[in-house]
Amino acid sequence: MSSVIASSEVVGHAGPGEQERGQRAVFCGLTSIIWLHRRIQDAFFLVVGSRTCAHLIQSAAGVMIFAEPRFATAILQERDLAGMADCNEELERVVAELLGRRSGIKRLFLVGSCPSEVIKLDLETAAAKLQAKHDNRVRISAFSGSGIETTFTQGEDQCLQSTVKDLPVLAEGARNLVVVGTVSDIVEDQFRRIFSDLGVEDVHFYPGRRAQELAPIGPGTQLIAAQPFVGETVRALQARGASLISAPFPLGAEGSRGWFEAIGDAWGIDSDTVARVLELPYQRSKRAVAAQFDKLSGRAVHFLPDSQLEIPMARFLTEECGVAIKEIGTPYHDALMMSGELSRLHPDIKIVEGQDLDPALERVRSNRPDLTICGMGIANALEAEGLRTKWSIELVFSPVQGFDQAGDLAALFAKPLVREAVLEVGSWS
Ligand code: SF4
Repeated sequence: MSSVIASSEVVGHAGPGEQERGQRAVFCGLTSIIWLHRRIQDAFFLVVGSRTCAHLIQSAAGVMIFAEPRFATAILQERDLAGMADCNEELERVVAELLGRRSGIKRLFLVGSCPSEVIKLDLETAAAKLQAKHDNRVRISAFSGSGIETTFTQGEDQCLQSTVKDLPVLAEGARNLVVVGTVSDIVEDQFRRIFSDLGVEDVHFYPGRRAQELAPIGPGTQLIAAQPFVGETVRALQARGASLISAPFPLGAEGSRGWFEAIGDAWGIDSDTVARVLELPYQRSKRAVAAQFDKLSGRAVHFLPDSQLEIPMARFLTEECGVAIKEIGTPYHDALMMSGELSRLHPDIKIVEGQDLDPALERVRSNRPDLTICGMGIANALEAEGLRTKWSIELVFSPVQGFDQAGDLAALFAKPLVREAVLEVGSWS
């Protein structure tokens, strides 16, 4: 079923009604290096992989030839893959060379790939040995960016999880707030201003801009997620005593207000203060979304499974933009991370978890939505069939969280529809 659903009708969604398993068409976790290396400005990502991995990262990140990139690929050669060379020795040499040349590196990530997993290269043990060797100079950890059975945003979850062990212990009786999941610097600054107006103190962003910005964790830590794909990191932090605040994601005016209200509630701030602080940014944000409403209202949108942002984005589109959702495909459903979202989603919206490319494309063809949100690899094929698309990866790369970005978020969805209208007018003139 797809219809325009007013938020007042919402009674909550139970989660995916169907699961699919089959052919997948998504980027691998290495892709997350693109936004992570921009966020953690003194981190270096050393992929241990093949030439394919190197090409993926270089073309996706669009490296400028004058810039010194903070990622590289240690290419596994045939001798490595055949088990004829000692990969650990080679890795030690590459890391020593890298750290000798680049004194600004404060955190080194060894990033596993499909080839390193296939030959069972134990990068975690390698990272621990290298850490002991280069102690006090740089922190070293390992995570997998392999595309085997994962989607690209899981790369961030794996990356953050690999650093949980380095976070200090929060002093007994103290409390702090940790925002989990990458946000852009501008979004962090905006959030910090609102936290300060609310009186929420000792706020940490994880990951922070610098590798040394390590949030202390303990029973006094409250976690709030800024991204939906950091579930394993959240669980690792919960295992250290932290508790998760259930909230919608800060997407759109309503999502952002719900996010800050949940924090205010958990922090024990009286509701009048919260309402007073949020009123102006909320109203500004509503006006910015309203400017895009006519372009989106009554349109039908179909989400193919890709980024794990599908459910919160669909909630934003139905709650604030008058969009009808044909189907939400999500690669993985994490009930812990989605609890604050599902309660705001109409129960009749179809959610399918997992991926099976051909039947999913058949449903898009039969639904003929106005817009399909999908991976880059699928977009061209659908465009060739006259279907408008939006790359879901853009929603991860762009700063879309918070009140001040709500209008831009609506505009991201409206843009392909406006472009189509312009092309149609142009073709008749
Ligand atoms: S990690 Fe795997 S999926 Fe990703 S680029 Fe390398 S080989 Fe390809």
